Amino acid sequence: MYGIFLKFFGNSFEVVRIASLWEKGLHTVLGKPTCALCQESTDKTAICEDCLADVNTLWFDEETVCKGCLRHTSDGLLCGHCQQHSPITCAQFASFQYDYPVKQLLHAFKHLRQIHLSRALCTLMLQNPPIWLPETPIDAVLAMPLSRERLLERGFNQSRFLAQSIADVYALPLLDDTAVLRQHRVPQSTLNGKARLNNVRGIFQAAADVKKSHLLLIDDVITTGATVNELSKTLIKAGVKGIWVWALAHPK
Ligand SMILES: [Zn+2]
Ligand SMILES: [Zn+2]
Repeated sequence: MYGIFLKFFGNSFEVVRIASLWEKGLHTVLGKPTCALCQESTDKTAICEDCLADVNTLWFDEETVCKGCLRHTSDGLLCGHCQQHSPITCAQFASFQYDYPVKQLLHAFKHLRQIHLSRALCTLMLQNPPIWLPETPIDAVLAMPLSRERLLERGFNQSRFLAQSIADVYALPLLDDTAVLRQHRVPQSTLNGKARLNNVRGIFQAAADVKKSHLLLIDDVITTGATVNELSKTLIKAGVKGIWVWALAHPK
């Protein structure tokens, strides 16, 4: 059904949001919504209590990851690398280990266009927010931008769904899709190591006035951090005062 929506109306975030609301309406008419993981009916619109309890075993504990780069540390302080090279961002956090079932849910959402899973993923992310968020003076939320070509190909920006729920829950403004432009390159997931760094170098451009702002950057998955760091460098050059990063998932 979403495919028809997208084909007919073109590709845009708003269209996908309308489709999601439409599905919500159908649930109301046809009966209770079902859990995205076990398919049992649930009062919650995304994931049932039992499945939430299971998935929450994949929570990242801030005491075991470096705040600068998400590498494992035994004390939750900055890792050796970040002690020697000051991190560009003020703090980074990922809610979940990038593992089953978060990995499969995200894949189905992103690549199989199962748009209804966005609510399950937002619910999951909001279950485990960064400990530093309540005391952080955030001015606005920014979703990791996609290139225009990727946006047309996929039809939506998966990080924007996450960023929208976070902006709603924390009553923060969400920067527009056009605030930061991204050049089109091959997906980072097809590359490794140094190639990832080269692939993202110079690809971002701040189009909106972000001077002196404190931004919360939302991404779906952070792997090596090359993209987040490149974007952060661009934003700092454009005058951003501080960047805090919150991702849905990170590989262990
Ligand atoms: Zn369930
Ligand atoms: Zn580190």
